[in-house]
Amino acid sequence: MPDNSKKCPVLTTADGAPIARQQALTAGPRGPLLMQDVQLLEQMQHFNRERIPERVVHAKGSAAHGTFTVTNDVTKYTKAAFLSKVGKKTDVFLRFSTVAGERGAADAERDVRGFALKFYTEEGNWDMVGNNTPVFFVRDPYKFQMFIHTQKRDPKSNLRDMDMQWDFWSQCPESLHQVTILFSDRGLPASYRNINGYGSHTYSLINDKGERVWCKFHFKTKQGIKNLMDDEAAALVGADRESHQRDLFEAIEKGDYPQWRFCIQVMTQKQAESFKWNPFDLTKVWPHADFPLIEVGTLELNRNPENYHAEVEQSSFSPSALVPGIGPSPDKMLQARLMSYADAHRHRVGNNFQQLPVNKPRCPVMHYQRDGHMATAADYGAKPNYWPNTREGAPMPDERYSDPAWDLGQAVVDRFDSTVDHDDYTQAGNLYRMFDDDHRDRLATRIAGVLGQARNEVQMLQLCHFFRADEDYGRRVATKLGIDVDALMQPGAKHSMA
Ligand code: NDP
Repeated sequence: MPDNSKKCPVLTTADGAPIARQQALTAGPRGPLLMQDVQLLEQMQHFNRERIPERVVHAKGSAAHGTFTVTNDVTKYTKAAFLSKVGKKTDVFLRFSTVAGERGAADAERDVRGFALKFYTEEGNWDMVGNNTPVFFVRDPYKFQMFIHTQKRDPKSNLRDMDMQWDFWSQCPESLHQVTILFSDRGLPASYRNINGYGSHTYSLINDKGERVWCKFHFKTKQGIKNLMDDEAAALVGADRESHQRDLFEAIEKGDYPQWRFCIQVMTQKQAESFKWNPFDLTKVWPHADFPLIEVGTLELNRNPENYHAEVEQSSFSPSALVPGIGPSPDKMLQARLMSYADAHRHRVGNNFQQLPVNKPRCPVMHYQRDGHMATAADYGAKPNYWPNTREGAPMPDERYSDPAWDLGQAVVDRFDSTVDHDDYTQAGNLYRMFDDDHRDRLATRIAGVLGQARNEVQMLQLCHFFRADEDYGRRVATKLGIDVDALMQPGAKHSMA
């Protein structure tokens, strides 16, 4: 029996009625149960509904609350209120994740990491929904769902399938840059505290004069980049499947608060017109030498969530959550994400996901959206639910917040092929050439370890991409695969490397 002398509050039902005993109500000590044991019925029914659908991607995550502090004046680029003065602080919530694994997957896997950051600003929430890599696998949103299918499970075997993954990548040379990062030493982070975060897409910044520049967001870890070798990760996963969650949670519990330096890269419209790559192509970086990092502020995580489900599982980040002074760019992938993320939350969490405490803006919310599941109506109560209206105190649009117009020139509407007229090899090659000899060798060994499980024709197609990025890259992977490239170059060889 529990000890009632400890001054605990009285246990109640969800309707608040006090509960005398936590024991099944039965006809006699051996049962059966009675329908009138409503307390037991409620407990059983609620339990059946405890889970919400896991995210289709980024299902496994860890998060923390924190503070962002402005350290440098960037008001010449943006009128965002939370960046208006050096020293200004804004509350944030940052959720890290792996991408492909389900909710119970191990943390220490070779995979991209999600870096989704919510700034609770005085002019609405700004969600910076990025990754730990500055680029992505595809540039046309038609390919996103297909790509994710290849990262998940084979429909019949229910196994992750290397042939499926490499078949897709071999057909999508634009993925080579990100594939090279994924299989590099930075593809298997040691912890969430030891990764950088990138907005990856190009966004726009607008200042108080209505001038627009294009920009990229970078969050550089102050803990230093740290990664695991594959054998270290395998041993770690055997001992602890939650290594990232444990590391982040325990560091914050003991007051060792992780920090990131927030920087931007800025490109003017004029520079965009002569940039050697499409500045809105998500598979490309802007070289630091041409577009140096400009410091903005410091991000610190300093408080663990009290309840994982309420705060982390239900946290909902949407690239469409933008604030005055920060806007989208023509990037096709970003444009698609502006719709799909909020839509996913409406399905997974509910139509009123923004009313939950972790997602709720800290500024007044005034709109004419109404009702749906779980609406609290806290923000609008009895106020009118239509616009335009002549009611006193009803929310009205304000022209001061209008963005400068976009000049799209003589844009032609078509379904443009995202694989033609693109250089998919130079930047992947540049990254490869940054690696020392040992790093190149580890990269090739890892790639061959998984590419070797794909069909021979897929291996040959993919090898051509490595060769186009850098001959040494191609030769190393071929050697690790046991493929004699020189023999294949001979006239009459079964597979041509041309
Ligand atoms: P720079 O030498 O100026 O920048 C290199 C960048 O690469 C640094 O940000 C560095 O991060 C990062 N880096 C180092 N090793 C790896 C790795 N194994 N995987 C991923 N990133 C790594 O050159 P460029 O700006 O011309 O970029 C060259 C290549 O570097 C690009 O093709 C891209 O793949 C990669 N890169 C570029 C970034 C950019 O914004 N320009 C950002 C991240 C990567 P750090 O300084 O933290 O060590």
